[in-house]
Amino acid sequence: MAHDESSKSALQPKLVIRNIGLLLSGDLANPILDADTVVALGDRIGAVGKEKDVDTSGATITIDAKGTALAPGLIDSHVHPVCGDWTPRQNQLGWIDSYLHGGVTTMVSAGEVHTPGRPKDIVGLKAMAIFTQRAFHAFRPGGVKIYAGAPVIEHGMVEDDFKELAAAGVTILGEVGLGSVKDGKTAHQMVSWARKYGIQSTIHTGGPSIPGSSLIDKNMVLETDADVIGHVNGGHTALPDDQITALCERSTRALEIVHNGNERAGLLALRTAMELKQLDRVILGTDSPAGSGVQPLGIVRMISLLSSLGGIPAEVAICLATGNTAKMRKLDCGLIAPGREASFVLMDKAQHSAGKNLLDSIQKGDLPGIGMVIIDGAVSAQRSRNTPPATAVPEVVK
Ligand SMILES: [Zn+2]
Repeated sequence: MAHDESSKSALQPKLVIRNIGLLLSGDLANPILDADTVVALGDRIGAVGKEKDVDTSGATITIDAKGTALAPGLIDSHVHPVCGDWTPRQNQLGWIDSYLHGGVTTMVSAGEVHTPGRPKDIVGLKAMAIFTQRAFHAFRPGGVKIYAGAPVIEHGMVEDDFKELAAAGVTILGEVGLGSVKDGKTAHQMVSWARKYGIQSTIHTGGPSIPGSSLIDKNMVLETDADVIGHVNGGHTALPDDQITALCERSTRALEIVHNGNERAGLLALRTAMELKQLDRVILGTDSPAGSGVQPLGIVRMISLLSSLGGIPAEVAICLATGNTAKMRKLDCGLIAPGREASFVLMDKAQHSAGKNLLDSIQKGDLPGIGMVIIDGAVSAQRSRNTPPATAVPEVVK
């Protein structure tokens, strides 16, 4: 067996990233690592440490980070994909590939609700969820992983429907409240069935997003008790402040802050979570594509917003978009640690930023310049076409 293992590892690509100037772990408990080298074997992180202490021999690809910062690939906890790399919401092509150039390596669907002619009968919505899960599992624009196939619950669903969806590979529900179920009692029942079979749930929070959707208030969110309080800062219309603080205080579920929400309410949710010493519940998404368009830089804009106006260190803000989201969404990316997914974003301060370095530039409200994105141990993008240009850019040397 030992022989089999070694011959298997000999076939795996070995990626060595050296000369990392700042290693951002994604872990809220320890956001900056004292290390300058990361080694990946295939699609997993093999070792993290000082170059002299890790085995860099036999690399199939070597990257000189040129002293730039390395963080886990960013996760967008709230997207609304439809099919392929197309969104009908603003009729744009290639939007997922554009988010890759904003450092996003993983996306989680909050429901494929923009699908033209979306079926609302139970057989139809189940079929669409299974189809979408399969399609995005097989189709990864630029390498980006999209966890999709997120059905929106409708009246008439029974426990067996959730059992059947789970058995078919569905792992997430679309936003509760975007379908016909608008009462907490029914929503709680269905979310509980989903949880029983390992399907995670998210609830829409706040005023209606577009004509035809409706208000979900604090009482409905608390009664439903979904795993993720989706856009706690509204999408875009936020709940009154006292309802937002009540959700932070009276629920233990994930608090999702989104780009396409109310920025002031987002800062309130962040501050409340900090006062409760529950920053580990805060996760980030864009809630896009949406009426406000697609935002390739939405997650780095959130990091910059929360750090510069919310008063949290930039390395902590990055944890919200990586390790926190991975933990709450049960993903094996989002942390720089052996065994985790080898997906990274390499950044430096943007050219001519007034910040002293990358972290200081983010704390001053600037966006980072992205120099490279790596997914599953392979280079997916080099200098970003969307961020301001990074001062230093990593180089593939072998
Ligand atoms: Zn929503």
